[in-house]
Amino acid sequence: MKKLITLLLAALFIFQLSFKLQAATCTAVMTTEARIGSWCNSHWVNYFWHAYDFDEADWDNGFGYSNACDTSRPLGRSMNAIYVVNYADGPASKSTDDFTGSILHWGGNYTLREIDELDARCGVGTKRAYTQWGWQDNYTRLYLPFFYTENVIERAATLVHEARHADWCGHNGNDGTNNCAAASDSCDESFDNGCSGIGSPGGRGASGFQALWLWWFTVGSDSITGTLSRKAFARDEANRIFSTMFDVNPCINITSSGAVISTC
Ligand SMILES: [Zn+2]
Repeated sequence: MKKLITLLLAALFIFQLSFKLQAATCTAVMTTEARIGSWCNSHWVNYFWHAYDFDEADWDNGFGYSNACDTSRPLGRSMNAIYVVNYADGPASKSTDDFTGSILHWGGNYTLREIDELDARCGVGTKRAYTQWGWQDNYTRLYLPFFYTENVIERAATLVHEARHADWCGHNGNDGTNNCAAASDSCDESFDNGCSGIGSPGGRGASGFQALWLWWFTVGSDSITGTLSRKAFARDEANRIFSTMFDVNPCINITSSGAVISTC
């Protein structure tokens, strides 16, 4: 028995060691990016840390736990996106139960309410994020392509997308005979109908939420977050989703002012 316990402890130690080694080697110090807004202080870092239920064990070993303000590390890059998703419509404080106005105003509160915890992992391949919901342990995992392939606006929109999953909404697209142009598992049936799964809500799905947030960012982001180039990116990214991520093509694209153009 004693031998068995020793063996089990040794296996556990090796498992933990291999996880830590993996985390340390998958994270290189890569490009830094400008911080958006003034979240780099203990008040805001602590607030975001607890609001999104970050844990040291998920963000140490190179992921940025030792310096949350360092935007060359995954944690700092996540904090930057969290600022954008919460304050893209202006830095005025709002209560966390404020769901008035457009998704640009309440999208941050939606991510706060729905995401159970945010974890950093190396990941495999190009997968950017994964959310587990349901009766089991709930979490949202963010992978290296989220941190370094996506820019800060993309990351903010991905948080909105993942929050929709955390609200028990799975994708219902890329099925049947009218597959979406991207032929991706991340497709929704249509812009207005995108959820499936046990206990799922009705209405717009994760890609629909993502496109809508980007649309509103194009139109209504403030001068701190919404530079011309970031707004142009949001417009193009919304249009990419409209054109490729719905089985039923909504046949719309948006202009820089947010106006709708018919595409088919
Ligand atoms: Zn998805």
